[in-house]
Amino acid sequence: LARLRERLARSGSPLGTRLLAVLSRDHLTEDDWDELEETLLLADVGAGPTGELIEALRTRVRVEGLKDPALVKAVLREQLVALVDPSLDRTLRTAPTTAADGTRTPAVLLVVGVNGTGKTTTIGKLTRLLVAEDRSVVLGAADTFRAAAADQLETWGSRVGVPTVRSDREGADPASVAFEAVRTGKAADVDVVVVDTAGRLQNKAGLMDELGKITRVIGKEAPLSEVLLVLDATTGQNGLNQARVFGEVAGVTGIVLTKLDGTAKGGIVVAVQRELGVPVKLVGLGEGPDDLAPFDAESFVDGLLQ
Ligand code: GDP
Repeated sequence: LARLRERLARSGSPLGTRLLAVLSRDHLTEDDWDELEETLLLADVGAGPTGELIEALRTRVRVEGLKDPALVKAVLREQLVALVDPSLDRTLRTAPTTAADGTRTPAVLLVVGVNGTGKTTTIGKLTRLLVAEDRSVVLGAADTFRAAAADQLETWGSRVGVPTVRSDREGADPASVAFEAVRTGKAADVDVVVVDTAGRLQNKAGLMDELGKITRVIGKEAPLSEVLLVLDATTGQNGLNQARVFGEVAGVTGIVLTKLDGTAKGGIVVAVQRELGVPVKLVGLGEGPDDLAPFDAESFVDGLLQ
């Protein structure tokens, strides 16, 4: 967590610098309040939450007669943490289930999202984390649309000794690959199966059919533990639109927000959680193999405010 704190601090600092510049003024004028509001909007916190926050902050500053910038900052921090919601359960469900007769079924994680958001990279980093915790893993390359996607996944897997189930035929049925991956995982008695999917948003009906079929056939072999939606934090409103579509078609249980390292737009965490009603569970903080971390509301806000 110390590391996450430090990394998030660096990622959010442009926002923090601006917020702190406003808050360091002794007396907050109308212009200062406008600037504060604008800063939060620019960070993609969203109009609704920003309005609520400013309103609540102004009320407290007035009622409690807060003058000390440090106290105003403390209240702002408290409110930002509440917006990000530390009470949400962000545990990633990766434990296999064991039936009464002792047979184990791996946890199955389905990873969805638009191409380019960082799905494959995220799966690679997550696999490393799981292996580091001594968990056995099988990967499924159900993004059969591009052969390169399966190659990329296989490369990540082989670096940590994890097998990838894939089809050699470009355009093969993604659901059969997903099914095969789960069956392989069960036969090998592994702990976790992670399935990568294609994310072509151009055709919503097609996407819905494909993800629906993948979910159904996996369900024949094992219950889905998680459906993780990968979103690129730098895409703002566009990312929110993606969240909406995938939320409708895929039964998302958790969000992975990638590329938080390159943006001061961390406020999207608030907006996307509200949109989908599910928590951000992981964040991507770079392209490297260790740049994935569990999300923590308090550290995240501290990062924003540094
Ligand atoms: P996919 O098409 O969704 O599977 O996306 P990829 O995993 O191929 O990633 C697309 C690009 O985003 C690659 O260049 C990745 O290195 C990059 N990427 C993924 N996650 C992160 C992240 O957290 N931070 C940064 N800076 N780049 C990332």
